[in-house]
This record gives sequence, C-alpha cells and structure tokens, in this order.
Amino acid sequence: MKAIIIGGGIGGIISALVLKHQGFDVELYERAEGNPEIGSAVQFTANVTNIFKRIGLLELVKACGSPVEVRNMREWSTGNIISTNRLGDTIAERELGSPYLVFGRSELLDRLGEQLPDGVAHYGMKCVGVEQDEASVRAIFENGHVAAGDVLIGADGIRSTVRRLVFGEVEPVFSGKVAYRGLIPASELPDFDSYKWIANAWPAPGQFLLQNFAGRETINLSLYRSGQKLEDFDTGNKTAVVTTDEVLGFVEAWEPSAKDWISKSAEYLRWPLFDIEPLKQWAKGRVALLGDAAHATLPFIGQGAGQGAEDASALGDALARLSTDPIAALKLYEEFRLPRATRVQLESRARSNYMMLKDPFAINQRNLQWREASKAITGYFGNSVDHWILNYDVAREFEAHVAKRAGASAA
Ligand SMILES: Cc1cc2nc3c(=O)[nH]c(=O)nc-3n(C[C@H](O)[C@H](O)[C@H](O)COP(=O)(O)OP(=O)(O)OC[C@H]3O[C@@H](n4cnc5c(N)ncnc54)[C@H](O)[C@@H]3O)c2cc1C
Repeated sequence: MKAIIIGGGIGGIISALVLKHQGFDVELYERAEGNPEIGSAVQFTANVTNIFKRIGLLELVKACGSPVEVRNMREWSTGNIISTNRLGDTIAERELGSPYLVFGRSELLDRLGEQLPDGVAHYGMKCVGVEQDEASVRAIFENGHVAAGDVLIGADGIRSTVRRLVFGEVEPVFSGKVAYRGLIPASELPDFDSYKWIANAWPAPGQFLLQNFAGRETINLSLYRSGQKLEDFDTGNKTAVVTTDEVLGFVEAWEPSAKDWISKSAEYLRWPLFDIEPLKQWAKGRVALLGDAAHATLPFIGQGAGQGAEDASALGDALARLSTDPIAALKLYEEFRLPRATRVQLESRARSNYMMLKDPFAINQRNLQWREASKAITGYFGNSVDHWILNYDVAREFEAHVAKRAGASAA
C-alpha cells in the first residue's frame, strides 16, 4: 500500500508518521520550499498526545512542548482572576492518561519532520492535478512530476486544491473574527522560565486576549476581536503585519498588565479567521481529505490541528484493517471521523461567541460557569461537556466503531 499525501502542515506530517508507523509506503508533497509553519503557538490536549504515545513519539513531543501547569482567566478591566485551571503534565496524565502540551508550531513541525525517513517528504512541489482509475491514483505537480499510489490524501489546508479538484468548490466562511498574533522573545523577559508554566487569558466584551508559551524561546500573544469586516482591511482576507500601537489602540481601557504584555511584541500579524461549512463527504474512490481540508475549524477550543491528528490515526487504522481494499478503507475512515470532526467544528463556532460575549448578564453567568468548571481538568475549556473532546482515545473509539459496524451487519 502506497499513500501520496499532499500538504506538509501538521495534518500531513502526522499522517505520514502514522502511516510509516503502520508500515505503509508514503510520499509527502508540500508546495513550500521547507517547513511552512509560522512561529506561534499550538496546543495538544490528551486526545492528541495519546496518538503520539501510540506511535512512540511522546517523549519527542514532550521534549519540544511545555506542560503549561496553570491557566488563569482574568478580568479585562482589573486583572483579577476569574478562574484558575490546573492542567499541566502531571494532572492531565493522571486524569486523562496523556499530557497537555503547548508548542511553538515551527519547532514542533521541524522535530516531527525529522522523524520521517529520508525520501518521504518532498518540498517545493505544488499539486495541480489529481487523476484516479481502478488501479491507482496520481498527483500531478506544477513542475510536471507525477506521483502514483494506492490512495491520495489531501492534507492541503482550508483552501485545498485536492478538495476543489475531486469534490468541487467550497468557499471558506469568514467568521467575523480576527486574531492579532504577536511574539515576545525570551530575551525580552527576564523571568521567561516562569511563563512556560503559566498562561493568562483576558476575556473582554467582543475581544479575548491569550498569552502563552510558543516554543523554547518565545511567548505568544493572541488578541481576538469579533464583529470585524474584511472590507475594513486593506489586505482583505489575507494576513498582514500591523503595528503594536494599532493593537494597543484596541485595549486602551484594559488593566495595565494586559497592555504591558501587548506592548512587548514588536509587531502583530492580523489573521482573519475562517472555517468551512461541515462537509458531507471526505472520501471519493482513492482520494480522501484530512485536517483543515476536510474540516477547517475556528481556533476557539484549540482543536483544529488536534482533529487532523485524530484523522491521521484513524486513517492508519482504516488502511491497516482494509489494506486489500483501499477504497473501502477510505470510506470507513470518512464514516468514522466525519461526525466527530463536524461536532468539533460546530462547537468551535459556538465557543467563538461565548469567549467574546458582550451582554453583562451573560458574561457574569459565563464567568460563574468557568469558576465551577475550573475545579476539574475536563472543565478546561470552561464547560463540563468538554469531557467528550479531551477524554477521547481515537484508536479505542475506532475499534469500537468497527465492532459496532460488524455487529450491525451480522444482525
Ligand atoms: C489563530 C489560530 C490558533 C490555533 N490554535 C490551535 C491550537 O492551539 N490547537 C490546535 O489543535 N489547532 C489550532 N489551530 C488550528 C490549526 O492551526 C489548524 O487546524 C492546522 O494547522 C491545520 O493543519 P493542516 O495540516 O490540516 O493544514 P495547514 O496547516 O493549512 O497545512 C496545509 C499544507 O498544505 C500545503 N499545500 C496547500 N496547497 C498545496 C498544494 N496544491 N500542493 C502542495 N502543498 C499544498 C500548504 O502549503 C500547507 O503547508 C489554530 C488556528 C488558528 C488560525
């Protein structure tokens, strides 16, 4: 069995690692000349780190991540603590079996990419065509190269070429929310080490600020703003660099420590936030979508990349189980993964509003709920229903799904 993966982002690289671990031949093609990730933060909760445990890479990801022990929710106008979640390595591992880790994106992708055997990943390769027939599937690249395999995985992000070519046009949906992302080098923070362990978040009416670890040498700041219009930006839906003064202008009335954090980043990247409407189909013949190509998700429960990792795990299991029938394997993958990823997509949309409520009564109710939820690790996202996201073992659930399916067809 040979898999062609298009896209070398987090979803594509983890898929390549999982499929190699399962013993398949893999070729990965990325259009960028090297690691495409920018330097900001990404978190993996226990439902994701347990996948690395299974493929023998937990120690590697632990070595490049930080087990943020404490996340404080703070009042935007006073800095007073609304709630404190204890969610570090030891707590998550005790309660959920795997750690909660935060990474610098670029560093994480470098370390994971290094685990792929030579010859698997090919950079500077833009896929422009996909063809399939009964015997094989082929990716065609801008430079004329053709790669053939038994299955082709489109892990090429929210504006996926594979999706457009095989499944048709899907327009990304602007959420009306924009992230302003800044980075502070460790050299600017004499007490940098203490911030590896502590994250702070300031939910404010229509805005949300997060300060957390973003790699060995960096702290990440993300200010989210709701009610935004693309036509107000000179760069429309594209990311753009903006000044620190512009971002400070959004938080003039905020408490001093939040403003102090914001002032420490030399500049910000303005990042309009898009997702896609849930798809009804991810697999067609020998082609399947994975990660953001299948289910681009808003970042408000920090599960977009994590869902791509769950996809990768399930894809490996489906191909292993039905290795002589790759088309059926991709359908099994779709049938198992689509409902959960869709649920996460919809929950992230709902949560994007909940994080940036404007009505004082609703804010009060939410903060009370956060205080209550912070008593348990599974209340990390401020809602006890998050248990279904965190306390999830995709390999175990896949086996349960297959068993249920077999039971249903025997009955
Ligand atoms: C502000 C923000 C914060 C986030 N925080 C978190 C978090 O804490 N935790 C989490 O789990 N998720 C988070 N996410 C979501 C996460 O970043 C994405 O879900 C994840 O990066 C998607 O990975 P992917 O590999 O599917 O797609 P991408 O990262 O988009 O990678 C797709 C790759 O395909 C390549 N490509 C595209 N077209 C072609 C082509 N034609 N040929 C070859 N290559 C191609 C691209 O260059 C790219 O490298 C966040 C997202 C945002 C916006």
